[in-house]
Amino acid sequence: MAPPAIRSRFVLLALFGVALFTFLILGGHRSIDGQPSPIQQANSNKQGGGSSGALLTGHAIAPKLGNATAKAELGRAAWKVLHTTFARFPEKPSEEEKEALRSYVHLFQRLYPCGECAEHFGKVLAKYPPQVSSRSAAAMWGCMVHNIVNKRLKKPQFNCENIGDAYDCGCGDDEKKEKDAAPA
Ligand SMILES: Cc1cc2nc3c(=O)[nH]c(=O)nc-3n(C[C@H](O)[C@H](O)[C@H](O)COP(=O)(O)OP(=O)(O)OC[C@H]3O[C@@H](n4cnc5c(N)ncnc54)[C@H](O)[C@@H]3O)c2cc1C
Repeated sequence: MAPPAIRSRFVLLALFGVALFTFLILGGHRSIDGQPSPIQQANSNKQGGGSSGALLTGHAIAPKLGNATAKAELGRAAWKVLHTTFARFPEKPSEEEKEALRSYVHLFQRLYPCGECAEHFGKVLAKYPPQVSSRSAAAMWGCMVHNIVNKRLKKPQFNCENIGDAYDCGCGDDEKKEKDAAPA
């Protein structure tokens, strides 16, 4: 039988172990008011959760998409989504909205289902980072990077002065309705 002093030290050590384990399993992952816990933040930093981290700018994830027809169909649909996203982005976005668009464009590139297209587009983003200060800036930037891809694929250049008309997508009506509905 161990002497009482050694036994109580062992009990203290065991209690400390249990407390540490409980904190790591429960407390460390709990979030307050939807804010990430310190552990979640640390993990996020480790994985490059910030806008300049590896999460947003890492390697292209999808494999090569050999089928030319699938590649072209995907491209038309993807450009439509991107340009329409920019056309409906706020003219005066909050800082959080700017960060959301920046992250979206980077993850759009990383996860783009045509791996070789994503690789090329990653280089375009590295040279010309997404412009997120306003709807007009984002739309012009989108037009410019699409033209860079057009040039590489030997396709005609689009006149970016017309970008607002090309992807208006009914936003004007929505904004008018919102203004009409707003209390005076
Ligand atoms: C991010 C990304 C990267 C791609 N990379 C590759 C690649 O590496 N290799 C490859 O083979 N394909 C790639 N594609 C697909 C390629 O860009 C085309 O979408 C596809 O070849 C079909 O071309 P399209 O001639 O039908 O017109 P698209 O280029 O798909 O354009 C669709 C329509 O958008 C309009 N448009 C054209 N240029 C602009 C512009 N600058 N701004 C706004 N609107 C415009 C025109 O009305 C056009 O008809 C990529 C697509 C995306 C979204």
